[in-house]
This record gives sequence, structure tokens and C-alpha cells, in this order.
Amino acid sequence: MAESLDRSTIWPYDEQGEAREFHYQRFSSPTVAAAEAALGELDGGTALLFPSGAGATTALVLSLLEPGDTIALARGGYYGTGVTFATLAAWGLRFVEFDQTGPPPDGVQLVWLEAPANPYLTMPDLEAAIACPAPVVVDATVATPVHLRPLEHGAHFVLHSATKYLVGHDDALLGAVVCREAAAAEELRSFRSRTGIVASPDAAWLLLRSLKTLDFRVRRQTETAAFLAERLRAHPAVEIVRYPGLGGLLSFDVADAETAREVETSTRVIVNATSLGGVTSLIESRRRWEGERVPPGLLRLSVGLEDPELLWSDLEQALAAAPG
Ligand code: PLP
Repeated sequence: MAESLDRSTIWPYDEQGEAREFHYQRFSSPTVAAAEAALGELDGGTALLFPSGAGATTALVLSLLEPGDTIALARGGYYGTGVTFATLAAWGLRFVEFDQTGPPPDGVQLVWLEAPANPYLTMPDLEAAIACPAPVVVDATVATPVHLRPLEHGAHFVLHSATKYLVGHDDALLGAVVCREAAAAEELRSFRSRTGIVASPDAAWLLLRSLKTLDFRVRRQTETAAFLAERLRAHPAVEIVRYPGLGGLLSFDVADAETAREVETSTRVIVNATSLGGVTSLIESRRRWEGERVPPGLLRLSVGLEDPELLWSDLEQALAAAPG
């Protein structure tokens, strides 16, 4: 049965004139609360929704940190997270990048990991991070709770770009923070209400719809990604394949930027577009966004739900189109 979508921004006070659980949408709303409960259960914590993954990142660091504080950020993860932190430098936040396969640097106030990192696909050393005195955030957008529940491993917060696998159909922008401690969740909830960084009921409703198929989608995407990674590893035009398992995202390198452009524009089933985590497979060269941070021939492939053999034949013909 589909949950109902309540778009109201107001709900009447009770007969005594007292505010009920829902009174004004910026504080809370039934559809958002239902989606948060469902996601919280999957991750084993208290979930809060935000209008995007980047919005969730901004809200979390602004509510946790003070001017002068430093974040240790996993190198090779989503480049936009560094862009967000750099933007917040004007408000006194600093960040340093580190290799998340080892321990974070000393003297930081927050550790920011990504599991697995997009697009370098490294996995964090969670144990080493948890041993630090600073709170630990794991961006588990790519792993999803199907493959990883970081709160069970001692992380304090999980971040999701729910735009990706959680919503999974490329039709809603949404972010989430899942908190291990109820008190931390209350602080973040209050910060969210006061700053107005709130998710819409429509996006929350799409998340509720999508969570029903999350396990099925992610397991199938993971199986297909493993199959394609194996085939790509054996292809002579492919220099390196990055795929640690744990989801439907992989990246691989071809000779140079020209070859990468040729491959990404030659696929017929796989769409040449940004983003990841949806039912439609997407491919793109990351050089256009990340510049020198990535090798010129790096292609990121988000595996959808299409037939695996069809995807492989599409990749094969695109790789054959590449300049020799
Ligand atoms: N985290 C990861 C790993 C991402 O890939 C992205 C977006 O690509 C984000 C966070 C930001 O999410 P959004 O685009 O929903 O703001």
C-alpha cells in the first residue's frame, strides 16, 4: 500500500489551542517524518532529511562545528564535498584531505569518510577513524544500508545523497543524515528548523516509494557491477578498474581524455550523464568536473538495472569505437 502524501504546510492546533506534533512544515511534516522513520530503521539510528546531499553536509558541519575548526576529509571522495567545505571557509571552517585507508590526522574536530569513495572507490579504515577523539561521519551514499551500516561500526553520523540509490530513479533531489545518538539528532533537528534547510514532502514520498525496492535494486546493481568489472579488467583498452564490491558504482581508465570522450559518447544503452545510483546506467568522464584530481582517462560507470549482457555489449562496442 502506498503511503499518503501530505503537502500541507500547516496543521490546526488541538481543541485546547496547543500545537500538535505537526503544526508548521519547517519544523516537521507527516510524510517527511514517515520517510525518516523508514530510513532510520535501515541504518539503525535517527534519520533527518535535507533538500539535497550537499544541503545535508552543510547543515551537519554548521551545526557541529565552530569557526576555526578543521575537518579531515577523505581524499578521492565526492569532489563536491570539498567544494562545500571550501565555500564554508569564509565562515572559518577549514579542511585537510587525507588517505582514508589509514588513520586521520591529529588535531581535527571532525572526520569525514566515504564508503566507497566516489570515484576512487577506496574504502575507509573505519576502525582507525573511530579510535580518534573527533566524531566520525561516513558518507555511505554508494554503499547504502544494504551493504554497510556505519553506526554499527562506531560512526557517529551517516550521510546519504538520497538523490542516488535511496531514491534510485533520478526523480528527486534529497539528502539525509542518520545520527547514532538521539541527543545529537535533536540538536541537528533544531538547527534544521531554525535555518530552514528542510526537505519537501514530495521528495520524502518518493523516498518512501523507493525504499520498498532498495534491497532488490542494490543487490542486482552490485551483481551486474561485479560482472562488468571482471569483463572490463580483461579488456585491452582498459588500464585499471576500480571496484571494491559494495554497490553498483565503478570507475575505469582508458588511455587519455580523447579516448574517454569517445567512449562516453559512443554508448547507446548507457546514458552519458552525471549522477549515479538510478535504475538507468550512466557513464561519464570525471575530468570535466574534477580536473587534475582524476586521471584524464577516468570514466565513472553507475550500473543500473538493465540486462548485464546488454550492458557489456554496449561497453564493448563503445570501447571498440575509441581511437586506437
Ligand atoms: N555524496 C556523494 C558520495 C555524492 O556522490 C554526492 C553527489 O553526487 C553528494 C554527496 C551530494 O549529493 P546531492 O547531489 O544530493 O547534493
